[in-house]
Amino acid sequence: MTASTPRTRGAAYHGGQSTGARPDPRKRVSERVASLAESATLAIDARAKALKRTGRPVIIFGSGEPDFPTPAYVVKAATEACLDPRHHRYSASGGLPELKEAIAEKTLRDSGLAVDPSQIIVTNGGKQALFEAFAALLDPGDEVILPAPYWPTYPEAIGLAGGRPVPVFADESTGYRVSVADLERACTSKTTMLVFSSPANPTGAVYSREEIEAIGEWAVAHDLWVISDEMYEHMVYGDARFHSLPVVVPAAADRCVVVNGVAKSYAMPGWRVGWAIAPPDIITAMTTLQSHATSNVCNVAQAASLAAVSGDLHAVSAMRTALDRRRKTMVRMLNEIDGVDCPEPDGAFYVYASVKGLLGRMAGGRLIGTSLELARLLLEEAEVAVVPGEAFGTPGYLRLSYALGDGDLAEGVSRIRRFLQNPGG
Ligand code: PLP
Repeated sequence: MTASTPRTRGAAYHGGQSTGARPDPRKRVSERVASLAESATLAIDARAKALKRTGRPVIIFGSGEPDFPTPAYVVKAATEACLDPRHHRYSASGGLPELKEAIAEKTLRDSGLAVDPSQIIVTNGGKQALFEAFAALLDPGDEVILPAPYWPTYPEAIGLAGGRPVPVFADESTGYRVSVADLERACTSKTTMLVFSSPANPTGAVYSREEIEAIGEWAVAHDLWVISDEMYEHMVYGDARFHSLPVVVPAAADRCVVVNGVAKSYAMPGWRVGWAIAPPDIITAMTTLQSHATSNVCNVAQAASLAAVSGDLHAVSAMRTALDRRRKTMVRMLNEIDGVDCPEPDGAFYVYASVKGLLGRMAGGRLIGTSLELARLLLEEAEVAVVPGEAFGTPGYLRLSYALGDGDLAEGVSRIRRFLQNPGG
């Protein structure tokens, strides 16, 4: 699969341009919001957790969060911050100055990118950083190249900002990595941006330094903005290494927004702290937007994040060791199932398995027509929650997170195998 056949989610929304149709007077939800697809990953997670609450022993491979608790020293910093009246008040919309300083230091330590705090905005998770970056940089009709399989929030956030996501597909034959030739085929006179993420969600793909160099130089040659999503920077395994695009290609830095946060690296998804690093004029624009939308991120969560990013990487390293072990178990067990092809991912905490070999077969007395149907059957019949490839723009695949306990992981994949090996039901 290459750059052909663009398929877009949220395609009903036309980036703020009128469709010419008369408005429906009974309409309650705006066209813009009605065109949004629900976050499939969160929807599956919610359904699985609801089933769990009714007492069913569902094993959840759907969630995008580490199963580890937030490190104790981070929680302690938050507890102390609660007692400090300074944190009971509004603070600067763009983030606590001490946190911005610490993010600048942490970024230099972890990726080698030297930035000034004036190039940083602290946001409600990486998601808000992405929404604000798209809003600050896109005009109606701008095309954004989006390597697929993609994380489902990207096309929705691009569409809301008036942009048009242009997916560029890569499959397991290239380790789900797009090439410059693929990108070039998708580039038009309207292309203004590339979204780049390594390690990537949902595939766990990690691009080599050389590949990033080629892609970064290509973006510079086309004068494109690059969103470099670095949420999974610390989740890389084996010989794979994380590289930050603006470090590999310094010429890209002036048109690059780095997005990162504490959710994955520090097991803090619920604290909702992320950030963007961009040229100061873009940060000023994003901060103005944020000052009207949400104001400052919760001060207590910022204080916790300050402890997280200023601390050492012990907790991250322990998590990575456990995740690496689970990654290998999951790949091995999935590949033992007839009809499943699961490449070994180099990063993040997901496997992206092809189930094309299962489509058209029977399982549990039911026909498996699509990966979406398979995901539904697995949840209802085998009590296992997975996310179908449809959510990421590529039907025929399942995403499974291995951020769960070793015992649950083995039991969950065994359930999948038992279900698929029993055509009759
Ligand atoms: N980017 C990627 C690739 C992600 O997978 C996620 C979360 O799943 C985010 C950004 C946003 O993270 P958060 O908003 O939880 O900080």
